[in-house]
Amino acid sequence: MTDVDWLTDTPFDGGCPLCGTRVGHRAEVGVAHSRPGQPRLRFIRCAGCTSLFADPPGCMPYDFATNLPEDYLKHYLEIGAGIHAMLRRAVAVRGAAGRDFLDVGCGYGFTVDAWRRGMGGAAAGIELAAYGQAGAQRLGIAIYDRLLGHNPALAGKRFGIVQAIEVIEHVADVEAFLADLDAALEPDGVLVLSTPNAAFIQPSAAPAEIVALLSPGFHAFLFSPQALEAVLRRHFAYVTVKIEREALSAWAAHLPFEVDERSVDAVYLPYLEQLWRACTVRDSLHDGAAYRLFKERLNRGDLPGAALPMQALEASYRERYGPAVLDPDTAAALGEISDITAYRHLPYAMAAYHFHRAIYVRLAEHDALRAARHFNAAARIALAGGRVAPEKFQEALSLVWIARQQEGLAWAALGNLVPARAAFDAVLAAHADGRGLPVRPTAQLASAVAGHRADVGG
Ligand SMILES: [Zn+2]
Repeated sequence: MTDVDWLTDTPFDGGCPLCGTRVGHRAEVGVAHSRPGQPRLRFIRCAGCTSLFADPPGCMPYDFATNLPEDYLKHYLEIGAGIHAMLRRAVAVRGAAGRDFLDVGCGYGFTVDAWRRGMGGAAAGIELAAYGQAGAQRLGIAIYDRLLGHNPALAGKRFGIVQAIEVIEHVADVEAFLADLDAALEPDGVLVLSTPNAAFIQPSAAPAEIVALLSPGFHAFLFSPQALEAVLRRHFAYVTVKIEREALSAWAAHLPFEVDERSVDAVYLPYLEQLWRACTVRDSLHDGAAYRLFKERLNRGDLPGAALPMQALEASYRERYGPAVLDPDTAAALGEISDITAYRHLPYAMAAYHFHRAIYVRLAEHDALRAARHFNAAARIALAGGRVAPEKFQEALSLVWIARQQEGLAWAALGNLVPARAAFDAVLAAHADGRGLPVRPTAQLASAVAGHRADVGG
């Protein structure tokens, strides 16, 4: 079960690492450390800038990052890596095409690969964790394993776009980090950042999402929007900070710039197809590319385009894991795990695959019965996984209650009212009392489902 305590009347004295305010803070959230065996942590809400910072302070040193937990890469490649999220802010900078690109904290290097293929400039990355070198070899790209400022290969080199996505919350010295990023920018270059939004951490947010955003032990602090803007304005004349629900996006430069966020699909979708087609073996990289391309094309209503990667994904799942992961009933049984290591022998995207398979079945094959079974499997697999390791099931957890709603609608369309009522009642019960659940339905969804429930009577 997800473990988040909301603290009340817990004053805290000590300096805010982001704005320096020393008094008036309150400890707001208590949470278990991400690593077993480590003491619990608190996050303190700054009285000055409303950011959150960890107590005890700091975060795990980089030696941990070089020794990633077992199965980290499998999850990352199959579903965890937010390739779109990592790419979209840099692609959105007007005039970015053709400019050189540096991604600090590039992970496996998907953005670097996508940039050189789709944007036309030279691209490089920095990644201290071991999967950076794994990606560099597999994708054939330049990834350096030394920090900017201590990196002879990049000394004196400047880039038109420098980005650091979900990195600044890990660094010990924010000012030095920004100075290093600035030094790698061309005079008219643009810095692109993102980081978790401290303002999103509220009791109304889903516990699984809170734990993922706090990453207890790995994030030294979470910026409030105003704190991020203030720190960037100490280095740059032009700063835009955008609040995007749980994340903050920021662009900063010495000269005026423009951002146009409509442009990313034209780079992202062709990249996914290139990545998928370049895979000559059925492995996690192949499956991750195929799954993402299937989902993105389906979400855009491109059913014939979605079918090709879907079929490739299913062929790979059948070969790697056996046919049971594709059948909704046997897959749901396999997903009733009590230990996350079970996913060494299961696809991490299994729940999300069944959700999107249900939509494809409904739209392309007009088979409500199969759609209902796939939706049911998606919800069961995601809830079971989310209870054990919520951080590994974020995408699927966001779909759980929509899956049950859609399952109910599919049963209702078939005139099968008993399972329709059961699916709707599950949503309403989870909304009324979410104890023990890693995610709850939104009020908006619950209200729609209450209407469906009235329609099916009983
Ligand atoms: Zn502060």
